[in-house]
Order: sequence, then structure tokens, then C-alpha cells
Amino acid sequence: MLGGHFNPLIFTKAMSEKTIFKRIIDKEIPAKIVFEDDLCLAFEDAHPQAPVHILVIPKKEIASTDQLTQEDGPLLGHIYSVIRKIAAEKNLGGGYRVVTNCGPDGGQTVFHLHFHLLGGRRLNWPPG
Ligand code: AMP
Repeated sequence: MLGGHFNPLIFTKAMSEKTIFKRIIDKEIPAKIVFEDDLCLAFEDAHPQAPVHILVIPKKEIASTDQLTQEDGPLLGHIYSVIRKIAAEKNLGGGYRVVTNCGPDGGQTVFHLHFHLLGGRRLNWPPG
């Protein structure tokens, strides 16, 4: 009965498991938090790709860019205002990059929407 490709029990379990970022939001695992308010959280990436590498995430559980809706517009505007504030605090006046990977082909590994804020060195283009 549970054979075949689709196992509803495994699917339900997978859907109910928290992502690592949700666990950081819930303070179940530690992170180097640089900013937090009611809507979002920002913390240092565990594997920095630049001298400044901060992840900014909404507290709302949105899996990826593909799950965004029109009603998330104000949330995205708020996240970008937080990104600007952190960039200023980190003295990134010379410029920086904001990256959101979407889906496996886009390089996304954590399925909770996040914005990489990268800076502190000259960033190459095009990316890999
Ligand atoms: P992405 O590949 O775009 O989904 O980015 C996921 C990012 O999360 C990577 O840059 C990881 O280094 C980072 N990451 C994964 N786990 C943690 C963690 N526990 N704390 C901080 N950053 C993390």
C-alpha cells in the first residue's frame, strides 16, 4: 500500500520538518545574528564566500523565490531596507552583491528564502 513512488507518510514528515534556517529563527541552533526584528533575521553565513557574507531571511516560511506572491511585496521591501542598513554598518560603500539562489539548478541548498549579502572584495562576474 505504501509502495510506489509517492509515499504520503514520508512526504508529510518531510513537509513538517523544519529547515535549518527555521531552527535558527526558533533559536534551536546558534547563529551569529547581526540583526533581528519581527519580520526578518540576519546572520553570518557559516561558509563565507567574501569578507562580508550575511544571510538575510524572512521569518515567514517561504521556501524559495518561486513561492513568493504579490502580498509579499512589503516584506521584500523591508528585507531590502535591512540589507541596505547592514551594508552601511559593514562599510560596503564601494558596493556589494545581493544573491538569491532558486531551486537546485540555481544552487539553492536551504529551502527557506534567503538573501546573500556579499561584499568586502571585488566580486567577479559572471558568477559560476
Ligand atoms: P544556498 O545554497 O543559496 O541555499 O545558501 C545556503 C547558505 O546557507 C550557504 O551559503 C551555507 O553556507 C549557509 N548555511 C547553511 N547552514 C548554515 C548555518 N547553520 N548557519 C549559517 N549559515 C549556514
